[in-house]
Amino acid sequence: MSRPRRVVVVGHGIAGLTAADTLRAEGFDGELTIVGDEPRPAYSRPALSKALLRDIDDLASHTLPPSDHGAVELLGVRATALDVGRRRVVLDDGETLPYDGLVVASGCRPRRLGAEAATGTGPGTGAGRRDDALALRNLDDALALRERIASRPSVLVIGGGPLGMEIASGCLDAGCDTTLMSLGPPLLDQLGRWLSDLLVDAARARGLRILPADAPRPPADLVVTAVGDVPNDAWLGSSGLLGGGRLVVDSRGRVRQDVVAAGDVAAFPSTDGPRRTPLWTSAIEQARVAAAALLRGDDAVPYRARPYFWTEQFGLSVKAAGVMPAAGDPVVVDGTGDACLVQWPGAAAAVNYRIPVPRLRRLCETAVA
Ligand SMILES: Cc1cc2nc3c(=O)[nH]c(=O)nc-3n(C[C@H](O)[C@H](O)[C@H](O)COP(=O)(O)OP(=O)(O)OC[C@H]3O[C@@H](n4cnc5c(N)ncnc54)[C@H](O)[C@@H]3O)c2cc1C
Repeated sequence: MSRPRRVVVVGHGIAGLTAADTLRAEGFDGELTIVGDEPRPAYSRPALSKALLRDIDDLASHTLPPSDHGAVELLGVRATALDVGRRRVVLDDGETLPYDGLVVASGCRPRRLGAEAATGTGPGTGAGRRDDALALRNLDDALALRERIASRPSVLVIGGGPLGMEIASGCLDAGCDTTLMSLGPPLLDQLGRWLSDLLVDAARARGLRILPADAPRPPADLVVTAVGDVPNDAWLGSSGLLGGGRLVVDSRGRVRQDVVAAGDVAAFPSTDGPRRTPLWTSAIEQARVAAAALLRGDDAVPYRARPYFWTEQFGLSVKAAGVMPAAGDPVVVDGTGDACLVQWPGAAAAVNYRIPVPRLRRLCETAVA
């Protein structure tokens, strides 16, 4: 295949930036343009629901380190359409960007309760647009949430996944009377019974009230929803690239030879069919594969899913690798109680336990003793 001379990356998050860095590392020296609708330097999204809810001043520490990819960065600009025949990305400022290679890395946005947002991505779409509830996806959302909880309102968090639990933890830390509503036990679907019990016990010990999702909604000054996400693929609607309404890629992140995708927007092959894996490390690893495939086609190494995830909530720091949710009780490899390293067949977790991620990953790939 011929190597592209002009590459456009849509999305200025971790997947888009990793793709840009990888293109350069792989020897791409042509024109590189990154389009991002957030009008600010890239930042760590996971920090929004962790340190950023607590730290009052230090926004700068969450900015990602500067890159040397030398790309033209068009920030505060949104891609609105894609013409795959003419190889052009249409922008909301009326410009069009020609490309020979395109990286789709437009991420996702919060699912709203009731109705999904039909269109729109980017700054502000997470927070307070469709109803009075806040949601948390971008820096503006986090700043709005932090400002609201500073006055210690009573808070109702809807959603018992990792994000809902982290938000509830941040609200409790800020001194808010906090209730969380969850469809089933919080974190059970994502992490399994053992880790769910551990984190829910810690949450209750700190004062979190947990209600089933079908209980009457308690009154609260502030409602925050964390009920999943939907991919930012509306701008691809007329491109013909969405298969069954999803952006499905092959094992090298390719939608077609000149278009690759990575991160939260992309459904990669899995044993259960094409699946999105909206995790930070997966976005990085997928972007490396997809950028290499744009340059080297079939010679690029395919993506191998090795899920890794971390969370910080209620005084516990949990790193988990491998197949989650993990079934049953784990074997304790080291430590005790609230500071331990544990292992299941195909999975491992570190709770308040320092361990390099590669070692944790190796542990989840070795047989349980
Ligand atoms: C609050 C929060 C906490 C999280 N915590 C964790 C965690 O602890 N561990 C973990 O593994 N994962 C965590 N995640 C998930 C992780 O942050 C994501 O998986 C990761 O950021 C995905 O990166 P991405 O580049 O694919 O998408 P994004 O980070 O969403 O970046 C996509 C960018 O593209 C922009 N964009 C969208 N549409 C367009 C368009 N049409 N034109 C131009 N730009 C566009 C978006 O505004 C955004 O800036 C968390 C997510 C959130 C929201």
